[in-house]
Amino acid sequence: MPELPEVETIVRDLRKKIIDRKIKSVWLDSPRQIFLQKKTAGFKLVRAPKLGDFEKQIKGLKIINVQRRAKNILIYFTNEKMMLIHQKMTGHLLYGKWKIIAKKPQLLLEGALSERVNDFIHFILYFDNDWQLGLSDMRKFAKVVFGDKTEIENLKELRELGPEPLEKNFDFKKFKEAVGNKTGKIKQVLMNPYIIAGIGNIYSDDILWEAKIHPFQSAMTLKDVELKRIFLAIKKILTQAVKLRGTSFSDYRDVEGKKGYYVDKRRVYQREGEKCFRCRSIIKRIKIGSRSAHFCPKCQVLK
Ligand SMILES: [Zn+2]
Repeated sequence: MPELPEVETIVRDLRKKIIDRKIKSVWLDSPRQIFLQKKTAGFKLVRAPKLGDFEKQIKGLKIINVQRRAKNILIYFTNEKMMLIHQKMTGHLLYGKWKIIAKKPQLLLEGALSERVNDFIHFILYFDNDWQLGLSDMRKFAKVVFGDKTEIENLKELRELGPEPLEKNFDFKKFKEAVGNKTGKIKQVLMNPYIIAGIGNIYSDDILWEAKIHPFQSAMTLKDVELKRIFLAIKKILTQAVKLRGTSFSDYRDVEGKKGYYVDKRRVYQREGEKCFRCRSIIKRIKIGSRSAHFCPKCQVLK
């Protein structure tokens, strides 16, 4: 799943490409992934709206900003409208040109966009410069929500998110407040978006290796010096991953369909059976809930 560095890469690229663009029309073949605001009785989101209703609400609007909050892409339009896109497991936004042939988008360009992973387009926004924004999503878990800015911003999934770890004002004191008193295992605490935003499976593994903390260590047993190591590792690894344009271990691609480079720099994520870069011990993988944690049994000892 795309995490903070991947979503940040997409958002930065989108700012250069789609700000000031006007929407000409929309296309979708997976309406269950779309939530549209209906204003009959107060604020209500309708799943799987009719294409015509969606088009009526969005046609002619101009994009004025693109932001990231946790793993959400937020597109701001004129008329105080807003779109929230959560890419979930395999979703990724692509900037390209497609033609619908027999109800399926056919790519009109060559290059990275023609890679198989980019060939599951279920939703397209058409711009006034003849370019398009497509959502490729093999597993169809991604979610698109469109409506009034004030209502979308007030959705629980945005309103209750934890702090952004790369914000300048996110200091050690704030980190300790968010994480230090939690009873869960530190890996699960770091991956909880309502405690701290944007960290998932890949970066929590690497952050804990960098900080020499076992993924099963209970957060509330961590001493200040250990919390400090985790805090610094978060800043270091997420910053590096943004610079390297994220991790393309499976489906993630940038808006031009290209891979990120962090995969070559990763510390332990998906390196089971390989040697630790610090002590040469063999990296292990353990189950944690429905996921896996990768760690070095010598550098990261459970206390
Ligand atoms: Zn080691």
